Amino acid sequence: MTIAFDHTYARDLPGTYLRVPPDAAPAPKLLVLNQPLARDLGLTLTEAEAEAWFSGAALPPGADPIAQAYAGHQFGGFSPQLGDGRAHLLGEITAPGGRRFDVQLKGSGKTPFSRGGDGKAVIGPMLREYLISEAMAALGVPTTRSLAVVATGETVWRETPLPGAVLTRVAASHLRVGTFQFFAARGDQAQVRALADYAIARHYPDLAGADNPYLAFLDAVIAAQARLIAQWMGLGFIHGVMNTDNMAISGETIDYGPCAFMEGYAPGTVFSSIDHQGRYAYANQPLILAWNLARLAETLLPFLDPDQNKAVEIANDRLTGIAARYRTEWTAVMRRKLGLIGEDPEDATLADDLLTAMEGADWTLTFRRLADPATLRPLFDDFRAMEAWLPRWKARAGEGAAQRIAKANPAVIPRNHKVEEALTAATNGDMAPFHALLAAIQDPFTEAEAFMLPAPTSFGQYVTFCGT
Ligand code: AMP
Ligand code: MG
Repeated sequence: MTIAFDHTYARDLPGTYLRVPPDAAPAPKLLVLNQPLARDLGLTLTEAEAEAWFSGAALPPGADPIAQAYAGHQFGGFSPQLGDGRAHLLGEITAPGGRRFDVQLKGSGKTPFSRGGDGKAVIGPMLREYLISEAMAALGVPTTRSLAVVATGETVWRETPLPGAVLTRVAASHLRVGTFQFFAARGDQAQVRALADYAIARHYPDLAGADNPYLAFLDAVIAAQARLIAQWMGLGFIHGVMNTDNMAISGETIDYGPCAFMEGYAPGTVFSSIDHQGRYAYANQPLILAWNLARLAETLLPFLDPDQNKAVEIANDRLTGIAARYRTEWTAVMRRKLGLIGEDPEDATLADDLLTAMEGADWTLTFRRLADPATLRPLFDDFRAMEAWLPRWKARAGEGAAQRIAKANPAVIPRNHKVEEALTAATNGDMAPFHALLAAIQDPFTEAEAFMLPAPTSFGQYVTFCGT
């Protein structure tokens, strides 16, 4: 088949990217192809086409590979130049419903943005992004998607020699907070404005006619990101590296590196090996949301008001409002998880009190089993606080709560020990555990005993790694 690529980013935003071809994989081998996603995108791909095109071995006709420039605050420190150091945007496609998507290769070789890196990726982390992003999609969370992972046949050196791989990522776009920061840091206001105009046209077209489209744009990104982080929190998802270059303007979850789902509820949970300060710990994510959005607001200041003091005042007003907006979104998420109908002013307190009572207990299963004390109780070392909380919840939730809970709370999430098991097997050439886990996480509201239980204690403290 042919892919009808378009290239609005390359066409409309000269100076924001560099044209560079991906490396040709020497011996590509297709590991997984997302046929349902391909169908949704209107692509009918043979495995041979996927293997060649999604490994860089051959460019699909019409592709115009570019590496995008961006900057970013990494763990609070500003890097003025990051950019696609191992990714190539092939172009955009329009799905049958009319939505536009980027198609990007990740792990496809060096670019002028590679700095010290080798431009490569390896099987484990690319399959990990595939699994977790597909889990998020099945759970109803806005996310980039994964179209394929192809082993390249190359050996990539990390701590040990590992098999190389390329992930094909599909995203509403790859515009990041860091894309705006790249040009703002260089004082290039015209380019920041061009990016904002592009982002509005692509993601928030209704805002083009607003009194001040740039302020409306800031509001829209705040709204989308607050909703997103509230969804993460509801699922116990920890992104792990919420740098500003990993925050998408579209409101999609992007860049699955050291992310993981929390098992036993502990607000301070951190999985990433490099997050020593706990900056991106579970309970800090709503604070980082506001911090990152402040960085976006700074880039837009010149367009919020011609009077600089006034612009700062407007931005501060919006930023101050983020905490309340997030709280509203989180309360809505918790209402759904608790099977509550309608709104009661005490709902947020009810949810807060559950969190206090359930500390240490499995996040996912506690919600799933709320209506069934016989299966709930074994999740707790000490059930006394829950004994006090449950009658309050029952009185508020009323009839039919059990059914509503089963629809709102997944039975299956990608449990860390299951993910590791699948990725280790895949790295050693056995894809069967990966496909079994993938099938389970794609149907997360159906109970599947083998994938539902927390890691055995022998699994130990889970640690994830970045940039691998
Ligand atoms: P990430 O941690 O994936 O969000 O990446 C942060 C920055 O490092 C981005 O600019 C990436 O393109 C770059 N990067 C990560 N891994 C590599 C690699 N193996 N080679 C070149 N650049 C990389
Ligand atoms: Mg990144």
